[in-house]
Amino acid sequence: MTRPLVVLGATGSIGRQTLAVAEHLGAEVSAIAARNPSDDLVVLGRRFPQARVVATGGSAEERESVRSALGSRALFGSDALLEVAGSEGSTVVNGIVGAAGLRASAAALGAGNRLALANKETLVVGGRVITDLAERHGGEIIPVDSEHSALFQLCSGGESVERLILTASGGPFRGRSRESLADVTPSQALAHPTWQMGARITVDSATLANKGLEVIEAHVLFGIPYENIDVVVHPQSAVHSLVELADGSLIGHIGATDMRIPIQYAITHPERLPAAVERFGLAGTSLSFEKADPETFSALRLAYEAGRRAGSAPAVFNAADEIAVEAFLAGRLGFLGIAEIIERTLELHDWTDPQSVDEVLAVDRSARSLAASLVAGVC
Ligand code: MG
Repeated sequence: MTRPLVVLGATGSIGRQTLAVAEHLGAEVSAIAARNPSDDLVVLGRRFPQARVVATGGSAEERESVRSALGSRALFGSDALLEVAGSEGSTVVNGIVGAAGLRASAAALGAGNRLALANKETLVVGGRVITDLAERHGGEIIPVDSEHSALFQLCSGGESVERLILTASGGPFRGRSRESLADVTPSQALAHPTWQMGARITVDSATLANKGLEVIEAHVLFGIPYENIDVVVHPQSAVHSLVELADGSLIGHIGATDMRIPIQYAITHPERLPAAVERFGLAGTSLSFEKADPETFSALRLAYEAGRRAGSAPAVFNAADEIAVEAFLAGRLGFLGIAEIIERTLELHDWTDPQSVDEVLAVDRSARSLAASLVAGVC
């Protein structure tokens, strides 16, 4: 039996797939949360009639319409989000996009819960503050990100792992020169070849900033030094990642590109149960691997640099990227401008070593405002 599920970011891509997995497993969903008190959230609330339903944002009018549809199950505001995330004995699936997911992760771990983590920022921004919190309160972090789920499974084999190899699809602009990327549009960047995901992560896949965030996330999760974490471009996204052992053997994780698999594993671990997904057909499939190009896709290089600087640098990398991607999607910044904003924000910010969630979030806020003023300056 799985523990009751608390699904954060319920109306997003990870949230919806988590709810599908919950139905497949027959798992109890005790709470769902989203930012907007939308009709979509009401529909989900009706689909899971036992669940508390949280909306953190929205107008008084929108909240009222959710309240009148769902009654006392409907809860509002950030405190309600932290309350459901901190319900003891739960598995909290955190599919919130961006740094907003950090406090919810901290609340889940502070209550000793299992955190099925799809929110990259929790580890990238929170770093050691988050892993210390998990240790202190007996909380458990099981990654949902496909690469980290693969690495988590590969690292559970009891062998000592020397190197992590994260695979990257390369995104829609794989193999392109830097010059040819100057004029790409948001719609071109949003056309991801293999994975269906939200807007920010899809743009992050096109710049390789996403892979950079994943390198930092892998370092925090598995404690492997940066020089032993590699990225290899693998356009088919069939090998989700690999580990290298002492004798040079590589062990990889192959499967369908379907997030329901890592979501389900994070919920059922250490058990592995049948999944309602298409099986991966190996025969007739060609798998290829290429060197990543951190000069053209400089966000990847910058992520390694930020990771090595540690302290506030990874949080600054993330905040600057989030602001820059927003500006790119709104047509206020060119594609190559995304990495430029990250680089300049990293250069200009005052490095600190945050010791608490509050301090981490203060770094996040100041980096955002620095990045936003840099974006405004390049218009
Ligand atoms: Mg990934």
